[in-house]
This record gives sequence, structure tokens and C-alpha cells, in this order.
Amino acid sequence: MPEPAWPAPPTGLCTQPQTLDVEVGILGAGIHGAALARELGLRGLSCALVDRGEVGGGTSQWSSQLLHGGIRYLLTGDIRQMREGLVERATWAHIAPRRCRWEAFWMPHGNVLEGLTHRFGIGLYDHWGSERPGWPPALRLGHVPAEVFRADPRSVQAPFRGATAYADLMTWDRELTKDLAASSKAALLDFHEVEGLEEGAGQLKAMRLRDRRDGVSRLVVAKRWVFALGPWTDGFLTRWLGETRKRLRLSAGIHVWFDAVPGCERPWAIRRPQGRILFVIPRDGLLQVGTTEREVEDGWVPIVAAEREELFQALEQNLPAIPWRSLPIRAEELGVRPLVAAGGSTTHLSREAILEPHPRLTNLHLVLGGKLTTARLLMHELATRLSGSPYPASRTEPLRLWDGQTPDLR
Ligand SMILES: Cc1cc2nc3c(=O)[nH]c(=O)nc-3n(C[C@H](O)[C@H](O)[C@H](O)COP(=O)(O)OP(=O)(O)OC[C@H]3O[C@@H](n4cnc5c(N)ncnc54)[C@H](O)[C@@H]3O)c2cc1C
Repeated sequence: MPEPAWPAPPTGLCTQPQTLDVEVGILGAGIHGAALARELGLRGLSCALVDRGEVGGGTSQWSSQLLHGGIRYLLTGDIRQMREGLVERATWAHIAPRRCRWEAFWMPHGNVLEGLTHRFGIGLYDHWGSERPGWPPALRLGHVPAEVFRADPRSVQAPFRGATAYADLMTWDRELTKDLAASSKAALLDFHEVEGLEEGAGQLKAMRLRDRRDGVSRLVVAKRWVFALGPWTDGFLTRWLGETRKRLRLSAGIHVWFDAVPGCERPWAIRRPQGRILFVIPRDGLLQVGTTEREVEDGWVPIVAAEREELFQALEQNLPAIPWRSLPIRAEELGVRPLVAAGGSTTHLSREAILEPHPRLTNLHLVLGGKLTTARLLMHELATRLSGSPYPASRTEPLRLWDGQTPDLR
């Protein structure tokens, strides 16, 4: 897979020793690696958290930034995954209240029958997701009054007759990932490139690393290893372990950040064909527009233009009154999401996330697939397996803010 430009290393030097001996070595500091580091710290297990870029610098900064039950699972009938997400959504609101913001999302409908279907489905979603700590009472759910709907510029000339509002939780994905790492006791080795793996007796013993800042070599020795490399997993296993089996399918999704459009107050979630959703979300003084991803074959670079064009067409079809192509674009990002390849097996926590014990190296686990919302739960399960001790307070212990700031999220 061609790779995006990697973040340049910062100038501050790493203060870790040249040899580290830990219980668990974690490769990949996205939401999964960082959540695992926190879980291990809560259980008193030492670990090293290694990434060749910054913490939260991969897929975990390119998501739609929703901690959600997945309203679209209502359409696919995956109720178990939805309910699991709704429980985890509440967990995040408990442990990371400063990185979470509740919102009333409007789902527009084109006719009366669709409106009734939405009301029924959304009623169930909000009923199952009724644990909403910190919910602002001023936010209204359910039927959106016609005059309120018509006052939103997105409704003008649009193929919609009204909307139903449902609850979901927004976050700041990269900051949340950094908070998890800051809440761990891990030895952090960011901006470290892997230079070699050392095996023995069917186990991964150690990893040789080079600090990209100053070229210093470091050795991490660990009893157990976890690779949480997101979409880079297959490439890494091919390069370092010579494996050819593909464990992941990749799906890409784009987000474009426009200047704020006056009158667009609430986030919209528009149903599209094949169960995809088009999001139009006012946040941080801008308008974030994105769509749930679609599977891709080709690499990183060629899909950007195709995804952008597809997004513009969806916007023009659904929200024609807004001159999308002439709005200034403030930022654009493409995320490639790792989905578990068909035929994946072992311990399912949810359909989209798998913890796979490596078939040859008996002390190595692979984290495959997953999403922000369920990362804590999956890593809770893995840490319990690695340490033999569950730690229920992981659901309630508040996260530290990595930068010590209290952000103004509203
Ligand atoms: C468009 C899009 C929208 C999404 N929206 C949502 C959403 O709204 N809600 C939700 O819950 N989920 C969402 N997801 C899914 C979610 O973002 C991902 O599943 C999650 O971020 C994956 O985290 P991860 O830790 O597995 O991988 P990553 O965050 O990609 O972490 C992997 C890490 O490995 C590091 N790495 C790679 N190669 C090496 C190497 N050789 N050596 C050392 N380190 C290496 C990378 O630098 C990276 O930091 C979305 C995904 C996409 C693409």
C-alpha cells in the first residue's frame, strides 16, 4: 500500500534507555495500542508503546470522530454490534467527558413511510442507548418540527420532507488516543522505526528500533507482544515475517472540512444506497462533511480524487441548495480503515474486531479491524487475557488529558 507522508519527527529527544525489558511490547500507537497500554497500566503490567510516527497519527486521526452505536446497523440488522457500541459510547462519556460532546443528529426522510420507519428505528436506538451521562437537556430528540427543519438551509430544494433526531457522541479522535496513552504507564517510543525482530523457540523475543529523531538504536525485550498496526498490519507481516496471507480488507472514506455555513446548526446523517451514510457536521467553527467508507483495491493516493468527486456528487444530490464546489475547503483527509477479511476467525468480540493469536509466534497477538468506539472494550478483553486479571474500573477511571488543558469543546 503506498503510504501517506509520515509526520516529521519533533525536535525533542527521547529519554528512554537504550534497552527496555517489559512485560508487553505494543507495536502501533493508534486507539487500540494506546487503549491497551492504559489497560495494562491499570493492571500493573509494564509495557512499551512503539510507533514510527506520533501517537494517534494513523487511522485514529482520520475517522468520522463518532463514538456511536452505529445507526446504520439498524439497516443491516446487526443489533448485537449496535448495542455493544451503545454501551461503549456511555463508557467514553464517563471516562473522557472533556473529549466528548453529545449531539442530536438529524436523519432526514423523503416521504411519510420513510419518516415513520426512521422514527421507529431511531426510537429503538435511543431507547437502547438511553445511558447518556452528561446529556444536555436542551437537545431535542425524535420528530423535528417542520418549521425548524425548513429553517435549515440544507432543507431548501432537498429531496426531504422532514427529519428525526437521534442521539450520538462526537469526539476528537487523535486527542482521545493521546489521552489514552497519557493515562497509561507505558514507556513511549514514538517516532521509532523497526530495524529487526529477534525470535527464539517459537516466540518473538525482542525488537530492534531506531529513533527517527537522532538515529539512536533501542532494543525492546518483552515477554508478550501485540501488533496493533491498523491498515499496515498485512504489509508489516509480509515485510518482517514473510507472510503472504491477507488478513484485512481496506475501505476508504474521505472527510472535507468547509467554512461553516450559516444556519447549519445540527449534524445531519443522510442515508445513502448500500447502507452508507453521508454526514454533514458543524464542529469547531467549520462544517465537516464525510461519508462512511467503501472498500478499495488500490492504494492511498489514487483514491483521494475519486472519493472527493463521489462525495461532491452525493452532496449535490442530497443538499442541492448549498454551492458545495465553491465553498472554501479548509482541510481534507482520507482514512483507510482495516476491516477483517472474510474467513477471519478466533475470538470474536464484535464482527468487525478480532484478536488473533499469531499462528507461529506463540507470544504474539494481532489486533485486526475494530473501531474507535469499541477499542477500549476489545483491549480490556486482551489485557485481561494477557494479565489474567479483569479490571472493571477501566469503565469508570477517568482519562488524563495528554496536554493538561481543559479544552473548550462547544
Ligand atoms: C473514514 C473513516 C471513518 C471512521 N469513522 C469512525 C467513527 O466515526 N467511529 C469509530 O468508532 N470508528 C471509525 N472509524 C474506524 C477507526 O478510525 C479505526 O478503526 C481505528 O482508528 C483503527 O485504530 P488502530 O489503532 O487499529 O489503527 P491506527 O490508528 O491506524 O494505528 C496503527 C498505528 O500503527 C503505526 N504503524 C504503522 N506501521 C508501523 C511500523 N512499521 N512500525 C511502527 N508503527 C507503525 C501507525 O503509525 C499508526 O499509529 C473510521 C475509519 C475511517 C477510515
